[in-house]
Amino acid sequence: MSGVLIICDIDGVLANCEHRLEHLSRKDYDIFYGTKMADDTDIEEGRLLVNALCNAVTSPSAIYYATGRPERMRNLTLNWLEAHLMPQARSDRLYMRKDVDYRPSPELKVEQIEQILKDREVIGGYNLIGWLKAVSDAVTSIITGEKEQPPTVYFIDDDPENVKAVCGRFPFITGITFGTKRMEGV
Ligand SMILES: [Mg+2]
Repeated sequence: MSGVLIICDIDGVLANCEHRLEHLSRKDYDIFYGTKMADDTDIEEGRLLVNALCNAVTSPSAIYYATGRPERMRNLTLNWLEAHLMPQARSDRLYMRKDVDYRPSPELKVEQIEQILKDREVIGGYNLIGWLKAVSDAVTSIITGEKEQPPTVYFIDDDPENVKAVCGRFPFITGITFGTKRMEGV
């Protein structure tokens, strides 16, 4: 694919989770990532940023949401994204943490971004479809002399450690550390 691919964190970038932070400091993750998330206000600057990136380009753009929120909160999160007018808020664009996954955030984000890149066929996957696509692209390139341009990829997160880990693993990604207030670990 060509165009622009935007991968954006939710908590601290789009969703203001300040009213839940007391539970995070007590390491009560079930409450921090519980139904109180429905009461998050949106961070207007974050919403404006992702909408600007989605709309400012002439080539096709896609946005994915990569979050440390657990899978069991998928419906709540999708409803929130839609209610707060976040672009392309669909289930197949939302990558969440498995309910029993307690790994550090940078490790999770690298894995999520790798999966998104594979699903978008930006990088090859170890499956038949990925292999056939690579062969097809090579044949097309030989016949036409044209090579499909890779997309421009942006990764937006409020945690600089997440941005550092993702851009370290995938140097072609442009990392944006963005957040009105630094919220460690979310
Ligand atoms: Mg965050």
